[in-house]
Amino acid sequence: MIFDVKPDVILGGGSAYFLGKDIPGSKRKDDKDYIKLFQEAGYTLATDKSELQTATGTNTGKILGLFHTGNMDTTLDREFLKKGTVEKFPNQPGLVDMTKAALGELSKTEEGFFLMVEGGNIDKMSHPLDWDRALVETIEFDKAVGVAREFAASHPDTLIVVTGDHAHGVSIIGTVDDEKPGTEMREKVGTYAEAGFPNYTDENNDGYPDKIDVTRRLFLSANNGPDHYETFRPKLGGPFVPAIQNEKKEYIANEAYKDVPGAVFVQGNIPKSGDSGVHAVDDVVLQAAGPGAEGFKGYMEESDIYRVLVDTLALGAKQTN
Ligand SMILES: [Zn+2]
Repeated sequence: MIFDVKPDVILGGGSAYFLGKDIPGSKRKDDKDYIKLFQEAGYTLATDKSELQTATGTNTGKILGLFHTGNMDTTLDREFLKKGTVEKFPNQPGLVDMTKAALGELSKTEEGFFLMVEGGNIDKMSHPLDWDRALVETIEFDKAVGVAREFAASHPDTLIVVTGDHAHGVSIIGTVDDEKPGTEMREKVGTYAEAGFPNYTDENNDGYPDKIDVTRRLFLSANNGPDHYETFRPKLGGPFVPAIQNEKKEYIANEAYKDVPGAVFVQGNIPKSGDSGVHAVDDVVLQAAGPGAEGFKGYMEESDIYRVLVDTLALGAKQTN
């Protein structure tokens, strides 16, 4: 589908689906080598952050950036903890790098452009209930919005729309404070005014917490999930794997977290065929700025968001002669 549409800039993970089935790492069932096909169609290929940098200077106007065979690593792993699959893919660009590269390329087009930037790992880390990774990812998403706003400041004919495609069944309900007395972790959860403020610091002003495992940290709790152990702590060793399959192919709590001090067993409430938390139908926030933004107001159905975009871009207008 992407090859049929041929957007000028395509950046992300999933290279396994672009490689022909005989190439190591491929997940394709046919012989089509889409990397080759894209290259023949005039795309410059980038496989890491430096190649993306180089590609933006090539002037072909078309970039295919595939930085991982599967899902790209999270900001927390990529920039700070060096866990996940960062050792295998050490030089992945982040959402900010990719947004900058895409805007730089697309803005060369006189007739304007449409760019979709997804902070995909916010969702991908919410599924396995890894709230610290989802939160840091949200900070990077916010920075990507900042890049777009900076672009809009010098290109005032830009409409920026920021929204989610769905919610997860999770909320921030307070903090976990290690200094609170006792050994039972639930007694260290502060709610309402008792929560106080988390004590994350940002000494180097990069917008990210200097460390995620501070003594008083945000506490998020999900209303659904598989059997798992709640550790009340960030997963510093790599993304959380809450449940693993037993011999009956049912997902059961991952014992790897059982002995984390204070960990408690949480009974799942979704079928045992599911390994992670699920999407929720809560309404989502949409924010917009720029020409056309006035079309977004009040309560809207998702399908009407598309109509506002189409109207603003004057797409589908009938030709009169
Ligand atoms: Zn999802």
